Amino acid sequence: MNRYELGQAIRLTYQGCVRVLPFEIDAHGCMIYIGKRKGKVVKYPTVIIHARIYMIHRLMLVAKLEREIRAGYWACHSCDNAGCINPEHLSECTPAENLQDSLMRSGRRQIPPKPHKGSLHHNSKLTESDIPKIRQLLEQGKSQRAIAAQFNVSPSLIWYIKNNQIWQHVRETLESSDND
Ligand SMILES: [Zn+2]
Repeated sequence: MNRYELGQAIRLTYQGCVRVLPFEIDAHGCMIYIGKRKGKVVKYPTVIIHARIYMIHRLMLVAKLEREIRAGYWACHSCDNAGCINPEHLSECTPAENLQDSLMRSGRRQIPPKPHKGSLHHNSKLTESDIPKIRQLLEQGKSQRAIAAQFNVSPSLIWYIKNNQIWQHVRETLESSDND
């Protein structure tokens, strides 16, 4: 059977079950899952193992760590790509760390970089003065993806800016945690 002969696949073992997961590699080194998704989880690729739906990226991190993800922790993408199942782009972090990492990748704050082994980062340099420009481009109807490419940042960051979710509220959250 040469079903994936043009692509590649991961052979993932979890709790004694084997799943073959086809993927394609994109320009950022992300391994984008292209197989069927199970259940109603829209954002992340899923599989069923022992009658339970699992998000594949979490299982990939479990396999990489050789243990379960700790309670209260997430499997976070260093690449901001929810469809990516590359274990090198996944790490265990708290929701707060995930947010901080997103900001750090945006170049928004001077937080000392935390090394992500083998991961590929968006090499972005977004400054305060870029925000009004980005807002203007959004108002002119330019796509979030095109703007992200223009400023060399992740599309999700543009989404955040568009939806005003990050620049004020998150900054306050981070600054108050700095004072602890
Ligand atoms: Zn990735």
